[in-house]
Amino acid sequence: MPDVEPVILVHGGAGTISDFAKAERVIAGVKEAAKKGYQVLRSGGSVVDAVQAAVELMEDNEVFNAGRGSYLTLDGEVEMDASIMVGSDLSAGAVTVVKDIKNPIALARLVMEKTGHVLLAGEGAKRFAVDQGVKPLEPGALVTPATLEALAKWKLKHGGAPSEMGTVGAVGIDSKGRLAAATSTGGREGKMAGRSSDTCMLGSGTYADDEIGAVSTTGHGESIAKFCLAHAIIRGMGNGESADEATKKCIDVMTQRLNNTAGAITLSRTGEVGIGFSTNRMSWAYQKKNKLYFGIDKNQCSCDDV
Ligand code: ASP
Repeated sequence: MPDVEPVILVHGGAGTISDFAKAERVIAGVKEAAKKGYQVLRSGGSVVDAVQAAVELMEDNEVFNAGRGSYLTLDGEVEMDASIMVGSDLSAGAVTVVKDIKNPIALARLVMEKTGHVLLAGEGAKRFAVDQGVKPLEPGALVTPATLEALAKWKLKHGGAPSEMGTVGAVGIDSKGRLAAATSTGGREGKMAGRSSDTCMLGSGTYADDEIGAVSTTGHGESIAKFCLAHAIIRGMGNGESADEATKKCIDVMTQRLNNTAGAITLSRTGEVGIGFSTNRMSWAYQKKNKLYFGIDKNQCSCDDV
């Protein structure tokens, strides 16, 4: 395999993102995350280190629906899901319904590296975190005034409207063509306690295979899970479609068949970029060499020199 130009591509979630000031913060957040991931790669980190670092930065930024800033369950609690996958050997780890963990993506990585399992849930996942030296936060530490307000509003109108903000995710490729993907979420607005999302499901929220490509998705989780959106995109590329074709086509088909919206970011094994969403907006950014590309609206792409 000839050398590949490294890329770190991130998304900050598909949604309506109707508030102008919020959109600005979201765009700044994805740009920072893509740059962070690229820096990690450039300073000798692995591609999995890079996607993890990019996602952690967004988990720590309360403008995003992941980590602090996650949407609340109907009971007013934060319950998060995350998954991470390495394309060279298909190793993967995930967590679901975890509470009081600052960086669920780091815990998913520990599941991948320190257990013989793929997915740990709830209390067991938290106990594993403690065993691994991860100190849980005080209950409520991940709740923000904005998410409390969002829950109150959701209850008043009793749901229905598409989410304002989605999941966060990152995909990366290094110069040797090694791929990784990582996705983390607080889930959907108005979700029941104990609900698991597509984000913790390999093939739905996250997938990476060095022979084909890497994908991270966002949007209506139940539909993404039924459609196995990440793997559908991988299959499309396996059948000869470009990363962008496969991404846009699968999102269109999923949206038509299941009548719900989604978004995804994709890298092919040669480092081609795919970006698609059927929501109004989806923030994304990627760094390749010294260029940082980013956008939030359909058919929009801006570029900074970095
Ligand atoms: N896919 C996430 C979920 O259903 C939410 C999102 O990305 O908007 O929990």
